Amino acid sequence: MAPSISTLLVLGASGDLASRLLLPALGQLLTLHPDRPLRLIGAGREKLTHAQWQATVKKSFTTAEASAAAVDQLLATTVYRTADVTAPAEMERLLAECAGTPAIYFALPPVVTALACDVLAEVALPEGTVLALEKPFGVDEASARALNARLQKLVPEDQIHRVDHFLGRSTVLNLAGLRFANRIFEPLWNNNHIERVDIVYDEQLGLEGRAGYYDHAGALVDMIQSHLLQVMAILAMEPPSSLGAADLRDAKGILLRATRVRGGSAARSSRRARYAAGTVDSHALPAYVDESGVDPENDTETLAEVTFEINTWRWTGVPFTLRSGKGLEARRREIVITFRAVPHLPTGLHGHEAPTVLRIFLAPDEMSLELNLNGPGDPYELERVSLGATFGPGQLLAHGEVLEGILDGDPSLSVRGDTAEECWRIVAPVLAAWRADKVPLDEYAAGTQGPSNWTPIA
Ligand code: NDP
Repeated sequence: MAPSISTLLVLGASGDLASRLLLPALGQLLTLHPDRPLRLIGAGREKLTHAQWQATVKKSFTTAEASAAAVDQLLATTVYRTADVTAPAEMERLLAECAGTPAIYFALPPVVTALACDVLAEVALPEGTVLALEKPFGVDEASARALNARLQKLVPEDQIHRVDHFLGRSTVLNLAGLRFANRIFEPLWNNNHIERVDIVYDEQLGLEGRAGYYDHAGALVDMIQSHLLQVMAILAMEPPSSLGAADLRDAKGILLRATRVRGGSAARSSRRARYAAGTVDSHALPAYVDESGVDPENDTETLAEVTFEINTWRWTGVPFTLRSGKGLEARRREIVITFRAVPHLPTGLHGHEAPTVLRIFLAPDEMSLELNLNGPGDPYELERVSLGATFGPGQLLAHGEVLEGILDGDPSLSVRGDTAEECWRIVAPVLAAWRADKVPLDEYAAGTQGPSNWTPIA
């Protein structure tokens, strides 16, 4: 049993991730577990007074509606230290302040994270130290492997949490519950019965001032390489014996190792596009290339779609299309499982003959099963009916669920090192084809469904 975490050391505590996502998640977590003793140490280059740091924490906790007791308890002990975490002496000072077993959360730019890891290799880490890292995890397979090698010199793999907030506990458990706690889905969950799977994450939002990061990442790396492949892995993995970290992460790893771009051809199996000026929900959005900080020469896509194949007995022949984009007509976050058509419809029945479709919506987590049923009136006529259900919200924000795993020393929701490398291996042919201009960069007006020549996902 891993020692429980008594100090959360946030490196980069003055940054956006810490104040907007991490601290609110912590506030929620402490509200849910008021008896959990935890000290928070924030560190960053910015000089913050104690009062300024307290105000930052308080404001973040307020956004998550953290209880007054949780706020007071944390504020009584939290400290902020101005430090350059790439300097060994300063890192050592920070670690010396950590009582008990620390979790070190790298809320830092990726380059600084790598340097901070080198520094940690030079200092003595307390027994049981847990490391938590945000995406992007490298920029390709080789850099992810190099970062893994750095991390594995510091602590064992089970103490490394590569955070993917798409893998919040409720989403993973919702998918697992639906698939494995019902007799009717799992027997059909294969290429005999499923025609295709689409995982769509469309946003209305544009760049939102994130050019510094996004203009070098694009939709493929920002969403598909990381989050959507993880969702696909949970959706398509073999039934694990348990949802413990080892079983769950083994099952995901096996699935991802069997995944590649469909037909081995990025040119045929991927599409990319960038939004031009348009109107989203009655708000004008400038063209992506006119956003501040964007370099048009980067040819960054704001909409990416890639079809993968999973070469296993269960999935061979089933296309898995993953799509994500910005500046689109509607927010759409769903997994669409389209079943094969029935082998024979008895003569006489007519009307709707579309295949059965199961839709699993993400945030809010809901599902609908679209069936053809005999409607009122003509008993031979089929009508489309949708059966809906709500999974119900989790108790915590997604980051809170991930943070809980970090503080409990349970890595089941975090991305294992080999899987992080695998996800880069899977998209590498697409990145190469796009860089070599083998796939045209199409254009769509912001506020539309995407380029007019693209077939929409049903
Ligand atoms: P920011 O640039 O807002 O914050 C980075 C923080 O790191 C700042 O507090 C900065 O301090 C600090 N920092 C930089 N260099 C050093 C150093 N040498 N020593 C100590 N502190 C340092 O970035 P974000 O918060 O947006 O992102 C942090 C990480 O989280 C990145 O890896 C990002 O990819 C990832 N992420 C962010 C998301 C978001 O929504 N923001 C979402 C998902 C992942 P100073 O300003 O003083 O330099």
